[in-house]
Amino acid sequence: MKPAAFKYIAAQSLEHALTLKAEYGDEAKFLAGGQSLVPAMNLRVAQPGVLVDLNPITGLDFVGLRINEGLGIEDWGLTTIPNPQSLILHIGAMTRYRTLERSAEIAAQCPLLHETMPHVAHPQIRNRGTLGGNLAHADPASELPVVMLVLNAQFKAQSVRGERWIAARDFFTTIFTTALAADEMLTEIAIPLSTDSDAGRTRTCFMEIARRRGDYAMMGVATSITLNAAGVCTNAKLGYLNAGDTPILATQAAQTLIGQVIGDDHIRAAAAIAHDEIQPPGNIHASVAFQRHLAGVLTRRAIKEILEFRF
Ligand SMILES: Cc1cc2nc3c(=O)[nH]c(=O)nc-3n(C[C@H](O)[C@H](O)[C@H](O)COP(=O)(O)OP(=O)(O)OC[C@H]3O[C@@H](n4cnc5c(N)ncnc54)[C@H](O)[C@@H]3O)c2cc1C
Repeated sequence: MKPAAFKYIAAQSLEHALTLKAEYGDEAKFLAGGQSLVPAMNLRVAQPGVLVDLNPITGLDFVGLRINEGLGIEDWGLTTIPNPQSLILHIGAMTRYRTLERSAEIAAQCPLLHETMPHVAHPQIRNRGTLGGNLAHADPASELPVVMLVLNAQFKAQSVRGERWIAARDFFTTIFTTALAADEMLTEIAIPLSTDSDAGRTRTCFMEIARRRGDYAMMGVATSITLNAAGVCTNAKLGYLNAGDTPILATQAAQTLIGQVIGDDHIRAAAAIAHDEIQPPGNIHASVAFQRHLAGVLTRRAIKEILEFRF
């Protein structure tokens, strides 16, 4: 199928793109990797009057580690705000999946993101798809939104009016919808990195089950567990994709692990609570009951994987 007629504008700079979005508002859409937008236009599910192509813009494609400079981010959504010397991973919105997948810095410093990347679509799509496009698309079945939630990521939204940071937990408001205003662009993602100390060591795991490799998963879990020097769990996060209108954190399930030296009984209890706590939609590939079953299985596997092999 062919898309409905639209006006194409290649943005020459970030300022140019923001000015166009301020002018056209909801009538305009940004074109990033085009891996969701172009199929949607061809199916006429999306019919933007104006397409603002972000690809000519330089400076939105980067991966870098920086000392926490405050950034004006006061609420990282963590039990403790990263100390002034902690490291923050900064990623530009137009960074391609392929760059993330191959980044040595990400492999070393952010293993959860590194482990997740090969699960996102197919290599051809990873050559074009961007982190910003993925997050702005806000598909609850996608891998990266739930990973960002578990990592306490912050998203920089820019417009001609200025800039603001939005916590991942506030960014995804419902299916395919974010907290971005009609004139805002997602320009940068900041992820606080955990470092080992006596107070806690954090280890992570991503697992999903899809009918075929590269397909959207029927269920997936992103898990993070922090243990103190005595082996007691001081923080736990259990995040699920395809389990509701947004990426979902099973907070009650995670709570059963905190304060425990985690054993099989705790793992079984957490998986049972997560099974009930999530709200999977069900689809032609998996019923709601099957999705819940998968969430229970993946929860048990991911926690065991972390405890047995990653500490
Ligand atoms: C066959 C196939 C299989 C796929 N499988 C998976 C999968 O398993 N898992 C998965 O997660 N995804 C999958 N995808 C989707 C893919 O990951 C998309 O690339 C991604 O969802 C969108 O990223 P993009 O850069 O291509 O964005 P685009 O398609 O260009 O844009 C997506 C939306 O975000 C908006 N947008 C883009 N950039 C910005 C920005 N910086 N600020 C504000 N708004 C912006 C656009 O206007 C548009 O509304 C698949 C796609 C295909 C075609």
